[in-house]
Amino acid sequence: MKRFDVIVGDITQSDAQAIVNAANETLLGGGGVDGAIHRAAGPELLEECRAIGGCPTGEARLTTGCRLRAKYIIHTVGPVWHGGQQGEPALLASAYRSCLELAAAHGITTVDFPSISTGVFGYPVMQAATVAERAILAFLEDHPEMHQVRMVCHREETARIYRQMYNFWFAATKADRLDVEHKG
Ligand code: ADP
Repeated sequence: MKRFDVIVGDITQSDAQAIVNAANETLLGGGGVDGAIHRAAGPELLEECRAIGGCPTGEARLTTGCRLRAKYIIHTVGPVWHGGQQGEPALLASAYRSCLELAAAHGITTVDFPSISTGVFGYPVMQAATVAERAILAFLEDHPEMHQVRMVCHREETARIYRQMYNFWFAATKADRLDVEHKG
């Protein structure tokens, strides 16, 4: 099993222990992957999110998976893209890191992410992929207990860019440590 992987699929069907939702600050549901997760998880999810009362950009909150196969949903809020000069990369990195820290704090060892911020929020995929992968790979290096983190891209074209950026920036230095069977 690769500790980091990029796959194409529908994240609502994930068999990971936790999936990440690219939500907005209200946590009350929206379009895109957020809408798909709320539809698949059922109305109980909205009740749990209401009780939490929102989430600032760059942070993360945990709910159960409700009717999903995943036991947990980690809701995070990525930044809206305003051209890249308003702290977007730091906020996006923080969103990924916050999700992984929350997962680790709850003993979760497999996490699936959607491509945060690259839909309605407008973050260019190539740049988002670089930020996402840097944050995920740094976390995996520091946390041997995390078995697997995957990017689950809805479209093949998005997955292609995540793979390309991984190969361009990270494969040479990380592949020997991450493309290996997990032995824990
Ligand atoms: P944001 O508001 O953070 O930009 P969106 O939901 O608009 O979030 O888009 C984020 C990404 O999620 C997009 O790449 C979109 O194609 C993808 N997406 C939409 N539905 C799903 C799904 N069911 N599984 C995985 N990814 C999805």
